Amino acid sequence: MTRDWSALPSANSLWEATAAPARDFPVLSGDQQADVVIIGAGYTGLSAAHHIARSGLVPIVLEANRPGWGASGRNGGVITAKFRLSFREIDAVHGRAMARRMYEIAHESTDMVEELVSEFDIASANLTRTGQVKAAHNETTLRAAIDEADWMTREMGSAEVRILDKNAVRDETGSDIFVGGVLNPGSGGIHPLNYLRGLADGVARRGVSVFQESPVMRLRREKDGIVAETPQGAVRARQAIIATNSYSDLTGATAHLQRTLVPFRSAMVATAQLPRNLAGRLMPTGRTYTETKRMMRWFRMVDNRVIFGGRGAFGKQDSQAAFDALRKAMVGIFPDLAEVPLEYKWSGLVAMTLDSVPHIGRLDDRTLVSLGYNGAGVAMSSLMGRYLAAFVRGESPDVGLLDVSRMKTIPLYPLREPAVRMVAGWYQFLDAIGR
Ligand SMILES: Cc1cc2nc3c(=O)[nH]c(=O)nc-3n(C[C@H](O)[C@H](O)[C@H](O)COP(=O)(O)OP(=O)(O)OC[C@H]3O[C@@H](n4cnc5c(N)ncnc54)[C@H](O)[C@@H]3O)c2cc1C
Repeated sequence: MTRDWSALPSANSLWEATAAPARDFPVLSGDQQADVVIIGAGYTGLSAAHHIARSGLVPIVLEANRPGWGASGRNGGVITAKFRLSFREIDAVHGRAMARRMYEIAHESTDMVEELVSEFDIASANLTRTGQVKAAHNETTLRAAIDEADWMTREMGSAEVRILDKNAVRDETGSDIFVGGVLNPGSGGIHPLNYLRGLADGVARRGVSVFQESPVMRLRREKDGIVAETPQGAVRARQAIIATNSYSDLTGATAHLQRTLVPFRSAMVATAQLPRNLAGRLMPTGRTYTETKRMMRWFRMVDNRVIFGGRGAFGKQDSQAAFDALRKAMVGIFPDLAEVPLEYKWSGLVAMTLDSVPHIGRLDDRTLVSLGYNGAGVAMSSLMGRYLAAFVRGESPDVGLLDVSRMKTIPLYPLREPAVRMVAGWYQFLDAIGR
């Protein structure tokens, strides 16, 4: 083994620069025994570890890099009760009972973040539930957003959604370019890396063993259980949980799961701190914001800086072209930011699935998985930890469309990169012509 796992670069993110110090976890060496070995220390793996330990079982967490190195340490920190597939689409295809169950799961997920932050007293996570505004860039998309909000109120009994006119969105954002929008007050924001570090620290303080720089290179069955082998040790357990999401191909041990995912690179930038008068004018309510465009961008104000993110790039590394495109889009919305330098730029992989929802459950009698959060995983992966613990205990929780039996391998997998580029180009065209 020649790779140095301690040397993998972390994201040059605002979160890294402002996070609480990371606890140092040991590297696994020698043999260990557990009830459950968990591969990956993001929100999925750490929440699973917490809920499994609470059931009276012994989990061990193995992380290839440092806890939070994956998407959990570098995301936008937007907390939403939704899936990429809308509840209306779910209703149309799978019926009302399924739509209602998925709606419940989505709301359980945002509550779970609150529960974990409170359970481990993670004040540095700065969790807020101030709401999210979906800002419309033209009348067509505004009508669609309002129609969707009306449907949610009428059919799902979602009382909280509010329609905003052009002036209200201008007051909300400080930008003049939107024609209106929809406010979802239940959404919120968080410091994603502090949340992650609070979870890692919290489970460790309660006695869960977490190992860093301990990549699982091989996962093999033995007579009564399963063995996760790392370069310097092994964990023998009765069950294994794969919590590697869009980084499932870091080693061969879980690489087969990558074929169920299309990894999209998602990029983010953060400006320098804004002068007080400008900071006071932009996004004064502290909500998070998305656009109605197909190539969706999102933004929020943290620490008097504008954070701006978007999806669409593809590739193994950060791309300057993606950062330039984000800056251009940001200045298009906020012309006052034209002269403000960007201080942080970073990116990570989000895991898209064929049916636009994550999947969780049992792969076989000893292996469980939860992945494919489609870029909306801060809350959902936190919740999936609780459901993983239920599966470990032998229960069969109702996870609706998330059931792993619905997980599909991507057809024509080697063609996924050109296919993603083609779809992204088509979406950009539709956005450009205002459809
Ligand atoms: C730039 C960006 C912005 C995002 N913004 C948002 C947002 O605003 N809101 C939202 O809800 N979601 C967002 N997401 C998605 C969200 O961050 C993820 O869905 C969520 O963090 C997934 O958590 P996880 O624990 O499943 O995976 P991860 O946090 O990616 O953790 C997987 C871990 O597995 C480890 N690993 C992989 N292979 C092995 C191995 N063989 N052995 C040991 N360890 C291994 C990796 O090192 C990694 O640390 C964003 C994602 C990105 C990349």
